[in-house]
Amino acid sequence: MSVLVLVEPDDELSLQAITLGSSLGDVHALSCAGPYAPSAWASAIAGRADGRDAIIGPGSDRGNEVLAHVAAQLDLPFAANVTAVRGDEVTRQRWGGTLLEHARFHGPLKLLTAAPHAFAASDGPFEVEVLRPDPAGAVQVVEHIAPDTGGKVSLADATVVVSGGRGVGSSEGFAILEELAALLEGAVGCSRVVTSAGWRPHTDQVGQTGTKVSPDLYIACGISGATQHIAGCKGAKKLLAINADPEATIFSHADYAVIGDLHEIVPAITAELRKARGS
Ligand SMILES: Cc1cc2nc3c(=O)[nH]c(=O)nc-3n(C[C@H](O)[C@H](O)[C@H](O)COP(=O)(O)OP(=O)(O)OC[C@H]3O[C@@H](n4cnc5c(N)ncnc54)[C@H](O)[C@@H]3O)c2cc1C
Repeated sequence: MSVLVLVEPDDELSLQAITLGSSLGDVHALSCAGPYAPSAWASAIAGRADGRDAIIGPGSDRGNEVLAHVAAQLDLPFAANVTAVRGDEVTRQRWGGTLLEHARFHGPLKLLTAAPHAFAASDGPFEVEVLRPDPAGAVQVVEHIAPDTGGKVSLADATVVVSGGRGVGSSEGFAILEELAALLEGAVGCSRVVTSAGWRPHTDQVGQTGTKVSPDLYIACGISGATQHIAGCKGAKKLLAINADPEATIFSHADYAVIGDLHEIVPAITAELRKARGS
């Protein structure tokens, strides 16, 4: 099987796409140089489709957008966020990963993206052919403005996320989460209830309609564990849940559980950390 894989520089999700591609057949990796112009990139990739059995993209916003354009240009079906491929059948994540769908490809060429963190990152060396799509006449990104994080680590990149839900009680209640996050050089996240209440900005929201995070440690404080929230944090390597309700759903996703009032437990963790560090 001959497989084209779209990769981007320094992109973990691209390495995961390579792993999926390698499990299917011989991989030919491609990247696109120049300004990001999804339809122009797609034209360049579609131009290499002859004789291929599959084209795979990373499960990033860009990967999904470019592959969707490839599918439209070639008039073929596209399966995003795929977790497994068996012959013509794929399993893919729907609804932010809360549902798995089994589907069958009809047609000569499979177009798909690898679901984020469903595959290990490839560590094998591979050559990348660099395409230079002509962006003339195509919609292209002319400027990228990073959100102002005030010098703090961003939610998406943080190795520790201290996240708060309705149980925090108020915007002022987040001070103890801020303190713990700062001590761990992490970022503060929150649930949608919190952003809806105006306690935190939407940029802090974790979940299906917020940011998807994959830190080493996710500390969920006063968060019940709704599927839409879990969709955003299930990429975390370890989850510590702090909740007053022993029956809270979040505990079924947790590696570590503390049952109790977060207003007592979070400062106690901070104090222990300071003591251990002698600060
Ligand atoms: C289409 C759609 C998209 C959505 N997208 C998102 C999304 O992206 N992100 C998201 O988060 N939600 C999302 N939601 C909302 C989601 O369904 C839940 O309503 C939300 O996640 C609940 O937030 P919460 O856990 O903070 O609040 P609650 O469900 O009210 O839970 C609060 C928790 O705090 C605990 N608690 C209370 N006081 C304390 C205390 N003192 N100490 C310790 N624990 C305490 C309670 O026991 C409870 O478990 C979406 C919903 C829909 C329909």
